[in-house]
Amino acid sequence: MLEILLKKRLDDRKSKVLYRVRHARFSPQKPEVVYQGRSLLSFSSNDYLGLANHPEVVSAFQRGAEKYGVGSGASSVISGYTSAHAALEEELSEFLGYPRVLLFSNGYMANLGVLKALLKKGDHLFQDKLNHASLIDGGLFSGAHFKRYLHNDLSSLKRELCRPGCESGHPEREQCHPSLCEGSRLIVSDGVFSMDGDLAHIPDLSRLARQYAATLMIDDAHGMGVLGATGRGSLEHHGLKVGDVDILTASFGKSFGASGAFVAANEMIIESCIQFARTYTYHTNFPAAIAEACRVSLQLIQKESWRREKLQKLVHLFKKGAKELGLKLSPSDTPIQPLMIGDEATALAVSDSLYQKGILALALRAPSVPKGSARLRITFSAEHTEEQVQQLLHALEMVNHEKIIAR
Ligand SMILES: *Cc1c(COP(=O)(O)O)cnc(C)c1O
Repeated sequence: MLEILLKKRLDDRKSKVLYRVRHARFSPQKPEVVYQGRSLLSFSSNDYLGLANHPEVVSAFQRGAEKYGVGSGASSVISGYTSAHAALEEELSEFLGYPRVLLFSNGYMANLGVLKALLKKGDHLFQDKLNHASLIDGGLFSGAHFKRYLHNDLSSLKRELCRPGCESGHPEREQCHPSLCEGSRLIVSDGVFSMDGDLAHIPDLSRLARQYAATLMIDDAHGMGVLGATGRGSLEHHGLKVGDVDILTASFGKSFGASGAFVAANEMIIESCIQFARTYTYHTNFPAAIAEACRVSLQLIQKESWRREKLQKLVHLFKKGAKELGLKLSPSDTPIQPLMIGDEATALAVSDSLYQKGILALALRAPSVPKGSARLRITFSAEHTEEQVQQLLHALEMVNHEKIIAR
């Protein structure tokens, strides 16, 4: 019975051109990658700063494995927490200015764990509609009342914030007072939206959170290391203080070029995560060697600001060229530059055509992005050269001539 249902679901996915196929990479994660029998110029990685294959990061990882072995052997609350993990927590706390930092094995688990640990039935959770899947799943898992407001729309959030206490008929929503509401309130947003590259209006979210006695959590997976003069991410970019955002999460899978994640917050929130985050306590800790690699990435993020400057330059170059070609980009100044296409089959055809020209730029389709908004999610790395960006533009120009994209 299960098999019959699964076949139906898989066939359905295929017929809607939403089926995912994996391709094994035979080389490190860098601009020039090797797939079976084929070398390609890649614009489909989140290794924004080019640290995934950085010799110092690789050697820190090797030294870590020699010192601590490979497996951590247990959960962090048993015996899997090492001095490498502790040092990384300390260094991040100092870098970001938050009182405490807690490491998780990946961003997905961090978000799931934090939301489940901090919320319970009767609490209220408010999330941007375009938040990352891990935040959405964490919200569902938490058991809290869960509202999704329109993307980056403060008035939509405001309407939702007012509702819980107003259901008894408060006439003026604007005057609704937090004390009217039972339970706590948590507002959660991506700092940089992962599929569009646009920024959340964090200063406004912070103001609103204070006004409505809500806690604010920002997932800065794509901002950390990339934004701000010293790489402290969205907060630094917007000129915010630590007190403006209560909980900050980010993944080491992106700009750190590694894997793992962290949560930064105050003592009480971090201790609550250690006690109650099920993805923390019931999970074998990630290897100390990865923590050692992340420590070096953190140094490079601070030291090598040229990587951020180079990225900005490449993004600018690409946007300028794309505009001249009349391509439809989503408004973004980050290394995430979505080329909007619309229907899934056309997006795949464009991606295939680029592949034929030696370029890897993968199409993103539903449910990763809203249905009918399929796109090429083009991303840049500080390791790309200007010539490589020109190569991409040239290939896109040829695709334009092939008239795959209806305009
Ligand atoms: C990638 C990502 C995550 C998940 O992080 P992993 O470490 O890959 O599990 C969470 N949130 C956002 C916004 C992301 O882009």
